[in-house]
Amino acid sequence: MNFNPADIRFQDADQETELPTAELSIVIPLFNETPMLSELFARLETTISSLSKRTEVILVDDGSSDSTWLDITHYAPQSFSTRCFALSRNFGKEAALTAGLHAASGQAVVILDADCQDPPELIPEMLQHWAQGAGVVNMKRRSRDGESWLKRKTSSIYYRLLGMLSEVPIPANVGDFRLLDRRVVDEINRLGERNRYMKGLLAWPGFNQLTLEYDRHPRVSGNSKWNYWQLSSLAISGITAFSNKPLRIASWMGLMVAISAFAYGLWILLRTLLYGDPVSGYPTMMLVILFLGGIQLMTIGILGEYIGRIFTEVKNRPNYIIRDSCDRDGSSVTSQIRAI
Ligand code: UDP
Ligand code: MG
Repeated sequence: MNFNPADIRFQDADQETELPTAELSIVIPLFNETPMLSELFARLETTISSLSKRTEVILVDDGSSDSTWLDITHYAPQSFSTRCFALSRNFGKEAALTAGLHAASGQAVVILDADCQDPPELIPEMLQHWAQGAGVVNMKRRSRDGESWLKRKTSSIYYRLLGMLSEVPIPANVGDFRLLDRRVVDEINRLGERNRYMKGLLAWPGFNQLTLEYDRHPRVSGNSKWNYWQLSSLAISGITAFSNKPLRIASWMGLMVAISAFAYGLWILLRTLLYGDPVSGYPTMMLVILFLGGIQLMTIGILGEYIGRIFTEVKNRPNYIIRDSCDRDGSSVTSQIRAI
C-alpha cells in the first residue's frame, strides 16, 4: 500500500479538517530506540521552543520490537506537534525515511537520527542558511568519534569510489542529516524507484546546495543498527543505483583481455611454426585459465547485481506499509489503524 499524506486528517470536534502545513518538519526514523527517547525529546523541546516556528516532528517507527511505538505515541510534546507512523515490519532506514518524507508537510524538512548523533541544536543554523536561499543544507561529518578505525577507513575509500563512479555528485561524509527545501522534498517524493539509496536520492535533485561541517559524537546509548554485511549491501546499492560505469568497466576489461589473448595466441602460433611444439607451459596455461575464469565470474557478478535490481524494480512492490498512525498536538490525539 502506498501511503498518501493527503489521507491523514486531524479530527477537530466532530468535523474533519485539512492537515495544517507546518513551517518546519523534522523527520526521525526509529528502530528500537526506547533508551534514546527521553534525551531526544528533551533536546528537541529546547531547540524547537527557541525557534518560534510551527514545527511538526514526524516519527517513523520502523518495526521496533521494544516499546518505541508506545513511547512516541504517548509523548505529549510542548513546543511542537508529533505525527507518528508505525511501519508493518522493519523495512530498513531508507524506507522509513521515504515514509517520513512523504508525510512531511513543512516548508523546510530536516532529517535526523534518533540517537542524537545528529545534534538537533544545529537546526537553527541550518534554518538560517535555508532562509538565505540554500535549497539543501548538507551536514558533513568533520570527526566521527566512536567509530572504529576500520569503519572510518572503509567509509572514506567508499565515498572516494562513489565519487568517481556516480553520475550525480554525492557529497562525501554527508549522511542523511540535512535540511531540504519543500521543492526538493517534492522532487524526491516523485522518484518512484524501489532501490532507495537515500544519500544519492537526496543529492539527485540538485538545487542550491550548501555544506556545513559538524562533529559527530558517539551514540548516547545502544549500538549502531548496521552490521558490516548490511553496510556493504547499502554500499553496493549506492553504486548500482547511481552509476552504470561498473558495466562499462566490465566491457572494457573483457575487450582488453580479448586483445591480449589474441596477441598471445598469435605469439604461440608463430613460436610453434618456427620452433616446433615442445609441450611445455603448464603454469602459463593454468594462470591464463584462472585469470580468465576470475574475470568472467566477476563480470557475471556485476551483471547479476544490475539484473537483481531490475527484478526489484519490475516487481513494483511498495517501499513500505503503514500499520498505524497517530497525530499528537499537546493533549489532542488522533489515531488511525490503517492496516492490520
Ligand atoms: N534505523 C531505522 N531502521 C533500521 C535501522 C536504523 O529506522 O533498520 C534508524 C535508527 O533508529 C536511527 C537511524 O536509523 O534513528 C540511524 O541508525 P544507527 O544509529 O544505527 O546508524 P549509524 O549512526 O550507525 O549509521
Ligand atoms: Mg547512529
